[in-house]
Amino acid sequence: SPARALVHQDTKEDLTASIKSEGSGRVSLSGSGSTDDSRWPRQNSLSMKEWDIPYDELKLFEVIGTGRFGTVYRGSWHGAVAVKLLHVNALSDHSVPLDTFKHEVATFRKTRHENLVLFMGACMKPPRLAIVTSLCKGMTLFTHIHLRKDKFTNNKSVIVAQQISQGMGYLHARGIIHKDLKTKNIFLENGKVVITDFGLFSVTKLCFGNNARGDSLGIPPGWLCYLAPELVRALRPHASLHLPFSKATDVYAFGTVWYELLCGEYPFKGQPPEAIIWQVGKGVKQSLANMQASRDIKDILMLCWSYRSLERPDFPHLLSTLEKLPRKRLARSPSHPVHLSRSADS
Ligand code: ADP
Ligand code: MG
Repeated sequence: SPARALVHQDTKEDLTASIKSEGSGRVSLSGSGSTDDSRWPRQNSLSMKEWDIPYDELKLFEVIGTGRFGTVYRGSWHGAVAVKLLHVNALSDHSVPLDTFKHEVATFRKTRHENLVLFMGACMKPPRLAIVTSLCKGMTLFTHIHLRKDKFTNNKSVIVAQQISQGMGYLHARGIIHKDLKTKNIFLENGKVVITDFGLFSVTKLCFGNNARGDSLGIPPGWLCYLAPELVRALRPHASLHLPFSKATDVYAFGTVWYELLCGEYPFKGQPPEAIIWQVGKGVKQSLANMQASRDIKDILMLCWSYRSLERPDFPHLLSTLEKLPRKRLARSPSHPVHLSRSADS
């Protein structure tokens, strides 16, 4: 179909563009990327240059944290930024990961939405591979829920969930699968949700087989409960790259975020990975018997966690369901703004 052809073409252009932006063709890449100038229009090289940040222009300050695939610094580049420096294994053959990296950066740069972190650019000359985004103020939902033990009322949870659905709906409409939706990748800035790290999963896993903190299946702590049954069933040692991520697996992960917001803990809390894998793989869900919430709220959870991916709702559908939920407290005090109040914020 024409639409499919367009998308494909677009991707190719981005890749070529990104390869050309390497600078006067000095660096040649092996693998799927072609450096054949005649095949795609030249002006694309310009569009990618806009996003290529020379490493020397970045100022790096302190380390904010280290994640699965890199180290995040507070930095400066025309103002405050977050710089995610990827761990590049000096011994590995860069060509394939570099292609993937550029491909994912090319996707990343097409995102503009209130609830998504602002992508500013990337450093794309190995061994300096970095992603530069706006610096999120505030704290992650993970910090609020699991470290500070902040309580989210159902009303606040609904508002947060709506904003997540909006951001995710936008990503999906652009054909981007997040692949790593979790409370650690969702910031709350003065009541506004900001989602980070979308679409960068392959690159970051790839490069660098960075598995040190996970167990033998490469499962970092806190990751498992976001994985849909079809992902859990596909888990193999050191092969998380080839997992069958989809829009529906993002929706499953959203279900877990929704559960954390409402219950203040992870599903399957305290259970060893093998037990979680066994249950999820067989379609056993976290029980909601002790949960204080209305039927509607629990139904959303159960739908997102559907064993069969086709039965999970999409984000536009989730958004309209969330909008229809009755809001007890807000109904009683109409003067209360629809934004989050400060209590769950900094
Ligand atoms: P994870 O998401 O698993 O925590 P990351 O590598 O993505 O690992 O992040 C490492 C640390 O940097 C985390 O504490 C995260 O909250 C923080 N961080 C990541 N991106 C940003 C950002 N854009 N602004 C501020 N802090 C960030
Ligand atoms: Mg992150």
